[in-house]
Amino acid sequence: MRLVLLGPPGAGKGTQAARLVERHGVPQLSTGDMLRAAVAAKTPIGLKAKQIMDAGALVPDEVVIGLIDERLDSPDCAKGFILDGFPRTVAQAEALRELLAHKGMALDAVLELVVDEGALVDRMRKRVDETLAAGGAVRADDNPESFKTRLEAYRAQTAPVSAHYDGRSQLTRIDGMAPIDEVTAAIDRALVGATVDRR
Ligand code: AMP
Repeated sequence: MRLVLLGPPGAGKGTQAARLVERHGVPQLSTGDMLRAAVAAKTPIGLKAKQIMDAGALVPDEVVIGLIDERLDSPDCAKGFILDGFPRTVAQAEALRELLAHKGMALDAVLELVVDEGALVDRMRKRVDETLAAGGAVRADDNPESFKTRLEAYRAQTAPVSAHYDGRSQLTRIDGMAPIDEVTAAIDRALVGATVDRR
């Protein structure tokens, strides 16, 4: 199963991706996680990306396209993958199609978690509180200022990605405001129709 999960920050992509990983046995490919790992390891990419990420802006397309290109060649992606946080620009979506075609692959589905913007800041605050309560480290970009920039980046650069896939009749919209289990059930229903096994 080759899947893209779209939606603004706080839509629940990560939560739903983790459930899909468990159910379908394919890896979650989160460019945000990959970039945070690069920042932590102080690699050249990490050093370049840190300030941009902390501010809530998008890192350059070629950086994330390179990360995904390399990752898709790992043996664990042979059976499929769940892309979480990529593509985030129309240029990334086009690059993804070319990369996949080159590797003899195609997407089975693109799902968009649709949420009310007003709920997103509250969700971010809740995530911060829960992380702190669990003794974890809060993301550097989970603060009101960076979150505002992340939402603006979403509106300006990522919302057109939904329209891009919709125009190709590849997009399924899911109500991301529903309780978590209902969102999972709606995703499962959407995938029944979409996941033709193209291995
Ligand atoms: P995320 O964990 O998906 O919320 O991503 C955290 C941050 O990493 C974003 O705010 C961007 O700075 C960067 N990032 C993650 N994925 C991408 C992407 N596909 N394109 C550009 N920047 C990205």
